[in-house]
Amino acid sequence: MEFKNSEILYKKGCENLVGAVNSPVRAFASVGGNPLFIDKAKGAYIKDVDGNKYIDLVLSYGPMILGHRNKKVEKAVTRALKKGYSFGASTNAEIKLAKIVCDAFPGMDKVRFVNSGTEAVLSAIRLARAHTGFDKIVKFSGCYHGHMDAMLVAAGSGLATLSLPGSKGVPSQAVENTLISEYNNLESVKAHLDKYNDVAAVILEPVTGNMGVVQPSDDFIKGLRKLTKERGVLLICDEVMTGFRSQFGGAQELVGIQADITCLGKVIGGGFPVGAYGASNKIMENVAPLGGMYQAGTLSGNPIAMAAGIATLTELEKQNPYKKFDLVAEKIEEFLLSSAKKYGVDLTVNRFGSMINPFFASNEIKNFADAQKSDTKKFAKFFWAMIENGVFLPPSQFEAWFLSSSLTIRELKKLEKAIDASMQVVGS
Ligand code: PLP
Repeated sequence: MEFKNSEILYKKGCENLVGAVNSPVRAFASVGGNPLFIDKAKGAYIKDVDGNKYIDLVLSYGPMILGHRNKKVEKAVTRALKKGYSFGASTNAEIKLAKIVCDAFPGMDKVRFVNSGTEAVLSAIRLARAHTGFDKIVKFSGCYHGHMDAMLVAAGSGLATLSLPGSKGVPSQAVENTLISEYNNLESVKAHLDKYNDVAAVILEPVTGNMGVVQPSDDFIKGLRKLTKERGVLLICDEVMTGFRSQFGGAQELVGIQADITCLGKVIGGGFPVGAYGASNKIMENVAPLGGMYQAGTLSGNPIAMAAGIATLTELEKQNPYKKFDLVAEKIEEFLLSSAKKYGVDLTVNRFGSMINPFFASNEIKNFADAQKSDTKKFAKFFWAMIENGVFLPPSQFEAWFLSSSLTIRELKKLEKAIDASMQVVGS
């Protein structure tokens, strides 16, 4: 496989872009080699600038749940474009998307649209502080909540990929109210709540994707809900990644809890920049213009992004691909485990709905420390072998693979072959 044009663009890109990328996880830092430059994508496939075609399991890190360039979404976006790009005033599209989102989340009466998952989380944290009058936030190691200062502690995603403990440039005051707990360890939360009586919220990914896919145990997640309620601490579910991925609505419902505040992004924008945070009337009434918590955005509720979101969610509800996602993920798990066994490779597979992760490790993965025992060199070998076999994966052991409803039996057969060939390379 040739990557000549990607190499040329990488060199050129390095002149005026930082590392030739606009988000560090795209830089292939942990798998080596140059990042691929993409030309276009359609359905289940993505094509690089050298004409190499791959089955896409990155899907823009989650948003493209219907596959690329879904006809209905494209039609809606084109129609919206012809009416104007941005008005700085409210539109009916915002009301429509808000209704779809609130109807899908029990307990969510109102939602505010922003432009990214990061913005959703930073606003949700401000809201939790405004509502409770307290400043402290408990977060879990390995959970990633975007790049706001207070959340860049023990974070997963790109920070795990690059082995960065936090980030330079974050003032110590910005993280002094961030308390770290261990995922799937209720005692580690209880210890903080016993020690401090000024905790505003606990934030978590109800099922994680940013240390790889990790599900909460029933005791942990239900215990966390009970504990936070008892102590008057808000529970924020960051569903930027999981929202509308495993069912029409949130993962929180599937794991048996209801958050006080929910953060969304990715799928609800159908590939355009959208984030959102939502909660009950009582909590949301703190937000300006109803309340004293200020949060704003020039392009928030952008009409093109709203049109993409409405069309994506409408089509998702119609297709109802969630059972199919489970079956496809189960098949991929089977392919991974059987080829790993065949070639003597240690592998643990975690999955949840349309998110799946093979960890190159023999241990069970319940938290970030478990995930970090994975052999990232083996992952790098596997990653490049999958590229050679026509499958585009996130270039990190700690990022979930995403499935789209565009995958068919044809792609599944290709995936089976690619996984077997790539696992052979790892085992050799
Ligand atoms: N929260 C979670 C759970 C995420 O997975 C991400 C991004 O991957 C974010 C927040 C940040 O979203 P964005 O990259 O849109 O700012």
